[in-house]
Amino acid sequence: MNGSTHRSRLHRRLAGWGALLAVVALAHSAQAEPQAIDLLFQGGTVVTVDAERRVIPDGAVAVDKGRIVAVGVNTELKTRFAPRQIVDARDTIVMPGLVNAHTHAPMVLLRGMADDLKLKEWLEGHIFPAEKAGVTAEFVSVGTRLAALEMLLSGTTTFADMYYFEEQVAEAAREAGMRCVAGETLIEFPAPDNASVAEALAYGARFLKRFAGDRLVTAAVAPHSSTWSALRRGGRLAPWQTDSRRRY
Ligand SMILES: [Zn+2]
Repeated sequence: MNGSTHRSRLHRRLAGWGALLAVVALAHSAQAEPQAIDLLFQGGTVVTVDAERRVIPDGAVAVDKGRIVAVGVNTELKTRFAPRQIVDARDTIVMPGLVNAHTHAPMVLLRGMADDLKLKEWLEGHIFPAEKAGVTAEFVSVGTRLAALEMLLSGTTTFADMYYFEEQVAEAAREAGMRCVAGETLIEFPAPDNASVAEALAYGARFLKRFAGDRLVTAAVAPHSSTWSALRRGGRLAPWQTDSRRRY
């Protein structure tokens, strides 16, 4: 082996080591500069509900600009990210929000009234008369705010509602930061907010236009135990139902 071959091998080896050191230095600098994000939930049991149904004890969830950017083990994520806000989630479960698919949210204010009766007697003998006498826009607003509070405490972040004065339900959901499909009732007798199906349809048309494209609320019409005529008439509002294929 002559001197020049030996030197060139040595150079190649040194170049190899140099490249490796550069990679190590890059990794080190990446580790030294964690990514700035808005929010990190740290230390809870993360129930991912992903395809593998992973449950991560001492997990973390990284959020930036309203979107989840990473889910994983707490020790890893807290070095990868520099959150502007940390939520200490120890001793809690961190999971996707629950969806309540059947609510008449403002009715929390009627809770305990005429319990343990058959549906027809309860509804027609007690609830309909009480609603006729006492359900106003303010009742709906206050009731939905209470219902939203109770739902959030149980981990529910989305609800599908049907009641009267649904504009107030929609406003209260938005105020609580909850997603909601808000269905304005079409019913074949005078309701607390609209005296006829025609009035309810006019209300529905205004309501659907007002909330078209809303970030949280999907406005809808909700025909009650309906005849085909009310269903067909409700269906005519479909052109304003712009976001019916939204995913939750
Ligand atoms: Zn119901």
